[in-house]
Amino acid sequence: MRIGQLAGELTLSELHKFIFEGLPVRGMLVRLTDAWQDILARRAANSETGAYPAPVRQLLGEMAAAGVLMQGNIKFNGALVLQIFGDGPVKLGVVEVQPDFSLRATCTQVGDVDDDATLSQMVNVNNQGRCAITLDPQDRLPGQQPYQGVVPLFGDQGEKLENISEVLEHYMLQSEQLDTVLVLAADDKVAAGLLIQRLPIEGEGNLGGKADSVEREAALGQSEDFSRIAILTKSLKREELLTLDAETILHRLYWEEPLARFEPLIGETGPRFACRCSRERVGNMIRSLGTEEVESIIAERGQVDVGCDFCGAEYRFDPVDAAGLFTGLSADLSGGSVH
Ligand SMILES: [Zn+2]
Repeated sequence: MRIGQLAGELTLSELHKFIFEGLPVRGMLVRLTDAWQDILARRAANSETGAYPAPVRQLLGEMAAAGVLMQGNIKFNGALVLQIFGDGPVKLGVVEVQPDFSLRATCTQVGDVDDDATLSQMVNVNNQGRCAITLDPQDRLPGQQPYQGVVPLFGDQGEKLENISEVLEHYMLQSEQLDTVLVLAADDKVAAGLLIQRLPIEGEGNLGGKADSVEREAALGQSEDFSRIAILTKSLKREELLTLDAETILHRLYWEEPLARFEPLIGETGPRFACRCSRERVGNMIRSLGTEEVESIIAERGQVDVGCDFCGAEYRFDPVDAAGLFTGLSADLSGGSVH
């Protein structure tokens, strides 16, 4: 093994936040390296599924990068879950990013995906594909529902969108009323994304016909700043996003702009792979199937095996373990019914 290869494997994922001083524009750049390679390696090690085909890998990687950017963009103490519900060979793509930027991701593929498959050929064959963004509060109150926004995979002219970045730009404009530019890319080593967002200007909503010309000019000027930075951002090529480091990308695009950067989030504070599955959660899931269903599985297979799609962990419940799940439940029920 060459040293270069070794160094490549040890690269930590990073998230960079920045603003443009004096301009109503903020941005973020994410590079998932070790976290992304971890997710891919776990999938490749799954003997049932094998590795993702290249187009699926690109889709999930771009979703993972976008999920981190969206989590970094909100003030919210809970998980951000980005999902694609497909009507083609890819049924489901899920990315879950916690407030501390630990993340996990998985795709469910049921049919063959060609090497050159487009987004719509994977998830929007019959126009039924959907993208959902869910904000799930950390400490959900009883009865409290997570917030969910759903967007179709179509543009304003009814055309099928072929980039997940466009789907999410639409979502941000709809849900937050904020102009957003997203550039995403992913291969077998890196999943990366660059986001630029126009911040609302105070009182902008009241700038209708009555606004005086000074205010109007100021707002227009600030909108021009965003347009200029948006054009610079869109000039970033996929290949550059995948291969250049954050310093080089930011310098190359914005060297003439008043860029102010925050301390990068790397390592313990940065994006990293972590799965939240546990024997207890799997036990709850099995319990929710009901006694009858679980007994029939045990009659057929002698035990209940559940694998985690995110990390590949295998959980086994033998007949004694499984019976214990329901004994526990009945104890809970009797405890709750004493009044
Ligand atoms: Zn897991």
